[in-house]
Amino acid sequence: MNAQRPIRTPADLLDAGLVAPERLAEIEGVAERYAIAVSPAMAALIDRDDPHDPIARQFVPDASELTVTPEERDDPIGDLAHSPVEGIVHRYPDRVLLKAVHVCPVYCRFCFRREMVGPQGLGTLSPEAMDKAFAYIAGHPDIWEVILTGGDPLVLSPRRLAEIMGRLAAIDHVKIVRFHTRVPVVEPERIDEDLIGALKASGKTAYVALHANHPRELTPEARAACARLVDAGIVMVSQSVLLKGVNDDPDTLAALMRAFVETRVKPYYLHHPDLAPGTSHFRLSIEEGRALLSSLRGRISGLCQPTYILDIPGGHGKAVIGASAIRESGGCHTVLDFRGTEHMYPPQE
Ligand code: SF4
Repeated sequence: MNAQRPIRTPADLLDAGLVAPERLAEIEGVAERYAIAVSPAMAALIDRDDPHDPIARQFVPDASELTVTPEERDDPIGDLAHSPVEGIVHRYPDRVLLKAVHVCPVYCRFCFRREMVGPQGLGTLSPEAMDKAFAYIAGHPDIWEVILTGGDPLVLSPRRLAEIMGRLAAIDHVKIVRFHTRVPVVEPERIDEDLIGALKASGKTAYVALHANHPRELTPEARAACARLVDAGIVMVSQSVLLKGVNDDPDTLAALMRAFVETRVKPYYLHHPDLAPGTSHFRLSIEEGRALLSSLRGRISGLCQPTYILDIPGGHGKAVIGASAIRESGGCHTVLDFRGTEHMYPPQE
């Protein structure tokens, strides 16, 4: 198996030592339903001797993906309900998603858009659909921010990215362009001068929201790729998904958030896993998630604290779901300190 080639089939997984021969039939069943891709960088990180390796759990298919629970749905965050034209999701007044491409360098087994991404997914927007998407953005002066997502927009060539940025540069009311991506971690070599140059456009501020879920993903190569972006003036924030068996313990979460901050990536969102089909083995309860978030409060710097978020099913947008540190009763407040001790505010003594 060529270590530089992405793994895309059950046979590739077998060759790479990522699945045992006796599991091949079940993995083939999953592959009929969902896309597979493990980049060389991620394949190299997987410990073949650890049956619970957190990197493998994110990218190597598992038969549990074929178990769909009643609450799961094909469009868990309700993109379609807010899509006025193909490729655009306009859920909040001041920003839109622009989904130019539905291809990713890796396919996460918990993906919230797993019914839309991959070779059988929605593909790349046609030139005509792109024209309509840009016309929509140009025609809505309230749109201050455009978020390129998909799929992973950084799989596009620097030429295509520069074209997109050029078209956004011509729309005055768009000030911020945000790229949601896993590329700096899973294909760090892609972050070169050409690609970085393509993300910049005169009059626009570029943000890169990096998706990573385990501290081991922040390899020296990934950190160097982020440094190239930040040194070029691109602001980076993080987004992670809280995943059972990957990062659902305080030590791992703390190490992940610290790794982001060390890499000059400001922790932003920690998502509660969405109700995507065949992902119940990754979901923990909101109470468990809140307890984990509370445990971070006393343990790591304020710079490292992410916001715990739930995308409300049906397209109703994001809600902050971390436990509140303050309660009101009888005109007084009770505030919880980082050790979990309650205090009255104002103090009663
Ligand atoms: S990179 Fe994002 S869109 Fe692509 S498979 Fe992973 S979660 Fe889904």
